[in-house]
Amino acid sequence: LHPRTKITTESIFSRMSRLALQHGAINLGQGFPSNPPPAFLLEAARKAVGTVDQYTPPFGLPSLREALAEDLGVSPEDIVVTAGATEALSSLADSLYGVGDEVVMLEPYFDAYLPQTLMVGARPVLVPMRLTDRWELDLEALERAITPRSRALLVNSPYNPTGSIFSREELEAIVTLAREHDLWIISDEVYDELYFEAPPTPLRALAPERVFTVGSAGKRLEATGWRIGWIVTPPGLAPAVTGMRQWSSFCSAAPLQAAVAQALPIARAEGFYPQLRESYRQRKDLLAQGLQAMGLEVFEPVGTYFLTARMPGLSAETLVQQARVAIIPGSAFYASSPPPEGLVRFAFCKTPEDIAQALERLERFL
Ligand code: GLN
Repeated sequence: LHPRTKITTESIFSRMSRLALQHGAINLGQGFPSNPPPAFLLEAARKAVGTVDQYTPPFGLPSLREALAEDLGVSPEDIVVTAGATEALSSLADSLYGVGDEVVMLEPYFDAYLPQTLMVGARPVLVPMRLTDRWELDLEALERAITPRSRALLVNSPYNPTGSIFSREELEAIVTLAREHDLWIISDEVYDELYFEAPPTPLRALAPERVFTVGSAGKRLEATGWRIGWIVTPPGLAPAVTGMRQWSSFCSAAPLQAAVAQALPIARAEGFYPQLRESYRQRKDLLAQGLQAMGLEVFEPVGTYFLTARMPGLSAETLVQQARVAIIPGSAFYASSPPPEGLVRFAFCKTPEDIAQALERLERFL
């Protein structure tokens, strides 16, 4: 085997889900909803299977590009449909950097960013976020991390695992840095519809010429296993990125692309996203209040379906085996610096009953 197979082992998300099953634990670890996707999406998929079954063009089913363009306010020509946001990110790694290049990203980071950068021979340069009573972007540290070898800045807002959302001023500062140092920006916006206060500003609105936006139907429409994601590229760059992604999966599942194309305008027209936010707000409050009542320090999220907290002195292994609650240890999101003391991540995209029961189990255990 090539030494690069050593870059990565089983992902922490798969591992915690496996342990949750093994120990009969409530899974507040991996971020996938425990409810089914909306009926309008399932209905569209039932109609598409048996109708749209052969290869689509590698850049995506034309009707899906059109629906995304309409939804996002961009040109269909600038959209590349991918097999989930994970493939979107790996296609961008293939397209934008290679051996000797550096990619500046924030820590805590979403797990895929590191192996995807290393697999193309580039070097991830991690810039820790500051954690006071909330998560703060350290713009000076971000600037210090940029060298003549830097090719891209990789940012995630709404941010997994912190649940924070960068302000317009922070995004403007990121864009200024990228312009000064001529860097691409990869903006992972898979949680773009999951916010609890002001909606996030899409980074591409500030710098359309250098921002690649990553999006996800799995996150938006609660179907993470469908693997339908997308990239919005700067004008003129979609053909080159399509050239890369076509050699991994060629195209994404055709009937599921058709179903998402049908569902996107329905989701808008029927107010699906505001309902989604409301239901997540309730589950976030339930979890945050329950943890606070146990005396834990909680960093209340303003976006995503994740919540970070401090749970010092307990390992995720002990919790899943003995309390039978699965969470993600903070260490999973850190490589260059130690994680903040006792940091853990909870996913609250689970039923209120599961969240309440997990809280009971924790309370008994702590
Ligand atoms: N985004 C999900 C999470 O952070 C997991 C993604 C995955 O397992 N590929 O939990």
